[in-house]
Amino acid sequence: MLSLPLTAAERRVLRHFHGADETDWADWRWQLRNRIRSKEVLESLVRLTRAERQGIDGCGKKLTMAIPPYFAALISPEDPTCPIRRQCIPLADELSASPEEMADPCGEDNHSPVHGLVHRYPDRVLFLVNEMCAMYCRYCTRSRMVGDGDRTLSMASYQRAFDYIREHTEVRDVLISGGDPLTLSDRILEHILQEVKSIPHVEFVRLGTRIPVTLPQRVTSDLIGMLKQYNPLWMSIHFNHPAEITPAVARACNMIADAGIPAGSQTVLLRGINDDPVVMRRLMHGMLKLRVRPYYIYQCDPILGSRHFRTTIAEGQAIMEQLRGHTTGYAVPTYVVDGPGGGGKIPLSPNYIVKKEKKRYILRNFQNDEYYYYES
Ligand SMILES: *Cc1c(COP(=O)(O)O)cnc(C)c1O
Ligand code: SF4
Repeated sequence: MLSLPLTAAERRVLRHFHGADETDWADWRWQLRNRIRSKEVLESLVRLTRAERQGIDGCGKKLTMAIPPYFAALISPEDPTCPIRRQCIPLADELSASPEEMADPCGEDNHSPVHGLVHRYPDRVLFLVNEMCAMYCRYCTRSRMVGDGDRTLSMASYQRAFDYIREHTEVRDVLISGGDPLTLSDRILEHILQEVKSIPHVEFVRLGTRIPVTLPQRVTSDLIGMLKQYNPLWMSIHFNHPAEITPAVARACNMIADAGIPAGSQTVLLRGINDDPVVMRRLMHGMLKLRVRPYYIYQCDPILGSRHFRTTIAEGQAIMEQLRGHTTGYAVPTYVVDGPGGGGKIPLSPNYIVKKEKKRYILRNFQNDEYYYYES
């Protein structure tokens, strides 16, 4: 893979890995192997706060820390409020739970007919093919199960999942997620795609991934060449902040779009990271330039120890109001909450109906002007 010139920050991080060079940096396997997982290594790159040190010491049993060198180079070493840093370095706040929090807020385990599958909606399934990600997002809705342990699904569990989908002829859409399916080798990923696509009633497949953002080196021409054969294949890419849009990420997204793989985005609304209409608009505009269509903004799920990340729903709706009408319609995703306990995605659109009268609606537009819509 052609390597991009390294930034000053990337060179600074690379120097820490003695003997490694720019070819290593461009190699996704090197990036995965050398993820930053300890306080000692991180401390040599970032001036850690007390809360971060406590978070790193305490998080291991819950959700481990892992940061690819590429992503670590985006962290501000001096600014603890850096939006990249807040997403990947644990804080002491993670270690205490609030009463409303749950290990499995979306009730996925209750809707799982066979290991790895969540069948909540009638016509589609979520297939969690592994538990490993390049980077562990501190607010991860699947923090109960993701991690680097040797817990990748066995071929036998894959087979049970394929059998289930084959038996359930109502399933027309399979969303492959994890963990992050792009941490698998091309070969295993292709095996999964082949099997799923060979099921006659499966109309299309989606890949849910954060790797084009956290480890864009993984998007190689080999991977893209393989994925292209499984068209129609859609991708949902998890993006949270405009600072994540780097030349490497742009290149990965362009390769995806050039291969004819339509991509949507998923963004988690996070306090102090993107809970600001200006930041959110910049992110949406940045993604459109990469041909990634904003798809969902998620209200942050109440996982254990996530209170410091959550905004109120009213704050989320206020951000949506600052998008709709104020910018390109394609830049306006749907704001949803995953109904705690297993309700699925519930839209939280701002309310534009001022009043419903007997024969007319009083509506407001994005500038708060009122309009009447008559029904006879
Ligand atoms: C999000 C999700 C889907 C896909 O939902 P869409 O709205 O179709 O993108 C499917 N199954 C589960 C369990 C989900 O959480
Ligand atoms: S990439 Fe997705 S599954 Fe993995 S830690 Fe982040 S939010 Fe969780």
